[in-house]
Amino acid sequence: MRYAVLSDAHGNLEALEAVLKEAEAIGYDRLLFLGDFVGYGANPNECVELIREKAYLAVLGNHDSAVLHPEEADYFNEFARRAVLWTRERLTKENMNYLASLPFTAKPEGNILVVHASPHKPEKWDYILSIYDAEFHFGHFSEPICLFGHSHIPGIFIREPDGKITMIEDEPLKLDDSRRFLINPGSVGQPRDLDWRASFGLLDTEKRVFEFFRVEYDVDKAQLRIKEAGLPEVLAKRLAIGY
Ligand code: ZN
Repeated sequence: MRYAVLSDAHGNLEALEAVLKEAEAIGYDRLLFLGDFVGYGANPNECVELIREKAYLAVLGNHDSAVLHPEEADYFNEFARRAVLWTRERLTKENMNYLASLPFTAKPEGNILVVHASPHKPEKWDYILSIYDAEFHFGHFSEPICLFGHSHIPGIFIREPDGKITMIEDEPLKLDDSRRFLINPGSVGQPRDLDWRASFGLLDTEKRVFEFFRVEYDVDKAQLRIKEAGLPEVLAKRLAIGY
């Protein structure tokens, strides 16, 4: 099975369309979406509808949840909060209902766990950024592979049989049976690793390989739409830097 693994689209339709086109050109069997359909970008309805149409399964992200329960946005920074409230006013009832139907965790098959933020208490939206964080979270799921997003930073944490944790950035990795993996495909709609190109991954369970892909998209158009929508200008600016 070849899984296209996408996360954190954040209402950026230009990036999402470019990623879907590239994923379709490469070829995949099932698409997994790791949450945060909306927030930050100017096309939340289009992104929800497109992902819903394409995804085999999807989980709820913290921005999706905050659009449904706006009191959760009190914990966001000012710009993220404004984007959540802007999105809440515009999302159709049908798309709201779809987001409300999403689980915190899902399993496309027995060996693979899918979450937005972290396997331990996924509703707390903890970040996995360091080897220290990864070590803690490896203790809270049993599957060989956990796919997660939330940090917008592509990379893989690897747990060796002796318990040692290592990390690789965005290079292809052979997923052998003796080790366990926490894999982040990076963000489609708002990369934060100082590379502006949209990020996604491909998990091939037959070849047992995970690969990362970066896709150029019309960032000027995405920025213009954010400005025209009256969303905070900083949300447009950061797209060009990849932060
Ligand atoms: Zn996100």
